[in-house]
Formats: sequence, structure tokens, C-alpha cells
Amino acid sequence: MSIIGDVIAKAKERDPYEFEFHQAAEEVLESLETTTKKHPEFVKAKIYERIVEPDRVIMFRVPWVDDKGQVQVNRGFRVQFNNAIGPYKGGLRFHPSVNLGILKFLGFEQIFKNSLTTLPMGGAKGGSDFDPKGKSDNEAMRFCHSFMRELFRHIGPDRDVPAGDIGVGGREIGYMYGYYKKIMNEHTGVLTGKGLPYGGSLIRPEATGYGCVYFAAEMLATRGFTFAGKNVAISGSGNVAQYAVEKVNQLGGKVISLCDSSSTIIDEEGISPEKCDYIMDLKNVRRGRISEYADRYANAVCYIGNSIWDVIKEQGIKVDVALPCATQNEVDEEHANALVKNGCICVSEGANMPSTPEAIKVYQQNGLLYGPGKAANAGGVATSGLEMSQNSMRLSWDREEVDQRLLTIMKNIHSSCLDAAEAYGMKGDYVAGANIAGFLKVANAMLAYGVV
Ligand code: NDP
Repeated sequence: MSIIGDVIAKAKERDPYEFEFHQAAEEVLESLETTTKKHPEFVKAKIYERIVEPDRVIMFRVPWVDDKGQVQVNRGFRVQFNNAIGPYKGGLRFHPSVNLGILKFLGFEQIFKNSLTTLPMGGAKGGSDFDPKGKSDNEAMRFCHSFMRELFRHIGPDRDVPAGDIGVGGREIGYMYGYYKKIMNEHTGVLTGKGLPYGGSLIRPEATGYGCVYFAAEMLATRGFTFAGKNVAISGSGNVAQYAVEKVNQLGGKVISLCDSSSTIIDEEGISPEKCDYIMDLKNVRRGRISEYADRYANAVCYIGNSIWDVIKEQGIKVDVALPCATQNEVDEEHANALVKNGCICVSEGANMPSTPEAIKVYQQNGLLYGPGKAANAGGVATSGLEMSQNSMRLSWDREEVDQRLLTIMKNIHSSCLDAAEAYGMKGDYVAGANIAGFLKVANAMLAYGVV
């Protein structure tokens, strides 16, 4: 068996039920095969074996009291995967599906993504099986305070800097940061995604969605295309999806879909900036469901209980560019085949690992421009890195400056992917390029430290 095959087999044997982690590890490691030949020093130092094992995993009880006075108990996690190139950095996810395998996959991806941004950040991820949907502000606050009552001892501005992810937006970050500040008696850059009055950065809420669109624009440009006049399918309707809609509109594209976990809406006239404002109010302020969009806009069609990619497949909806911005493994092989059939030329992933390995094969076999999440959605963490810099310097950059830096970072990530792919004999392969470019910096740092 090859070195890489052996590492994958051992990772699966060691934790047989961590399926998402196996999938992420396999996807990264397989594209690192060529590095084992060019870098015998990595093989000798067992960098591949070491990089799939987290530095540490913290699991803890999160008890809290609901509005009826009942005690509830959730489980909290922080996976500190690798801090070779900087403090641990990665989001917190609050969703009932959260388990250790999912957080290990996300933390592992984060190592390479953070390295790709060129900023000094290690990889981590955390969260809880708590479901913020349908919870009152007081319940969310009591949960977040309890979560931070344990997490505070493991994080710090030079140690580990969490941020948001699914189910963790401005409200949750505010409650967690407020509690950290209270018990540590410190006002410091320990979380990113903070509100503007207390250390947040302009453009951080927008960054992942904007960055995903910037990355797609870079890919399209390699073939002489732009977003102008393109039909764009976006999934999700949360933070990443909303700002992807905003940026596609700014670049002249037409967004024709959104979804949440209950339904899909198709609006062939396009989700205009005014409709996007409505969605932001619906989802972020009123905490409503996307199906309400179809009540408000009569031309839109709502498919209750249907996945967006099933709807696109079954209705034969024309899509030029697809931006999956909801969750992992949402696009499977059949969905990918339908996208190809319906005219799709580009997939840029706002979500983490939204395409199954079989779907990725379909994109690649059909010559689609395909930007994997760890490159295409790295704008979020990159801007978190900019938030950390501003906190350390005790100053705030204006909107244009942060957006310009984000755009430059996304362009640089795009060219690093292409350069690394070409240097390792896989020209035009963004998957291999992202994995190799992200890996080399971390591997060299690990090598420098000796066996630790
Ligand atoms: P949000 O919680 O703001 O939004 C998630 C959206 O996806 C919601 O509309 C949610 O619907 C929908 N969704 C979740 N699960 C499913 C499902 N099984 N089927 C259909 N829709 C679903 O999260 P974010 O926008 O922050 O994150 C979205 C993705 O982007 C995740 O993969 C995340 O890891 C990734 N990401 C986020 C970053 C960030 O800065 N926020 C940075 C990099 C990556 P519902 O309301 O019904 O749950």
C-alpha cells in the first residue's frame, strides 16, 4: 500500500464512525500523493500520519435552563487540530447534527484553508448539538453563557480564536464574547465575527459570501467569462448565501434560487437587491423560514420539503454557475450530472465540503471550473484574520480597505491554487492545487519543530 493509502486506512480503523472526517482526509491526502515523492523529508518525519491526528480534542457538558424552567443538557466540543503556523482558528457550529466526526472534518479542512489565506492561523473547529432554531433570545443567551463557562479556559487571542459557523451568528457571538469578557476581565480579540461597537471588522459578515463570488469570478475569467447575465443557483439562506446573493447582483448575475432545511424557492426573475434585503430581514431579524418568500413574491415557486439540487434536477432549471452555500454533502452525483446537463460551467463552494466525492468527479470529468470550499470560502476566515490584526493594533480599517484586502486575498488564493497544481503536474486542478499549497507551508513548519 502507498504511504497515503496506509495513512487513510489507519485513520479509518482508528475512528470507524467518523465518516465525514474520513471523506475530508481522503480528499486531501489523495491529492498529496505527489508530495510524498518530491518530499522524502515529510515521509521520514511522518508528517502525513501526524497531520491527521488533532493536537487535542476537548469535549464538555453544557447544562442550561430553558424558558419553562427545565434543565437541558447539550454537548460542547473544540477540536484544536493544528497550530503549526499560528493560533488555532475556526468557527463554532450549533446544529443538532454536530458530532465529533463532523467537527474533525471541519477542523482538518480549516488547517489547509487557513494556510492558503497566507495569514498566520492554525486550524480548529468547535460547536455543540444545540439547535438555536426556535429558541428565544434568553434561551440562546443562557446556552451561550454556559458554553463559554467551559470553553474560556481553552481559548485566547494567542491560543485559539473561535468564530461563527452554522447556527452561530452575531447574536451568539455577542453572548459568548460578553461572557468571556466578564469572567476573564479582558477586552481582547478572542472571538471574531464580533459586532462593530465591540471590536468587529467591517465586511466580516459579508466576507465568506463575497469571497466565494470573487473566487468564482477569478475562475470564470480564466475562460473569458464574467458573471454578467449568468443564471446563478445558490443554496442555503444564511450568512454565506445572503452575501453571495448581494455580490452576484453587484457583478450583474441573476440569482434564481435559495433554500433552507425545510424548502426551496425558485425565482426565475431573479432575487434582486430589494428581495435580498427582504430575505436578510426575514432570516436575521424575524428568524423566519424561506418559504415565506413565495408568499411575498408571487412569481416565485416554493417546493416544500425538496432539496434545492433535486428541484434543479427535476425541473431542468438552467444554471450557469452553482454556489452551494448550505451544508456538507448537499450535492451528490445525480445532482452534479443534472447541473452539467442544465448548462453549468462553474461551481464555487461557499459551504464546507458541500459536494460528495462522486459529484466532484462529475465536475472534473466534464471540465467544469470547480473551486473547492477550502479555497472558495476562505474569505471568511481571512477577514477574521484581518479582524484579529485590527484588534491587536487597536484600530479599524474602513469598508473599502477591508473589501479590497479580501479581494486581493481571494485573487492570491486563486493563483496559489493554479501555481501549486501546475508545479505538481496537475495543471488547472483547483482541488489538488488548494490542498498542496495549503499543506506545504504547514508541513514545513511541522518539520522545523522536530517531533512535537
Ligand atoms: P447559517 O446558519 O447562517 O446558514 C446555513 C443555511 O443553510 C441555513 O439557511 C440553513 O437552513 C441551511 N441548511 C443547513 N443545513 C441544511 C440542509 N441539510 N439542507 C438544506 N439547507 C440547509 O450558516 P452559514 O451561512 O454561516 O454557513 C453555511 C456553510 O458555509 C456551512 O457549510 C459553513 O461551514 C460554511 N462556512 C461558513 C463561514 C462563515 O463565515 N459563516 C465560513 C466558511 C464556511 P435552516 O435555517 O433550515 O437550518
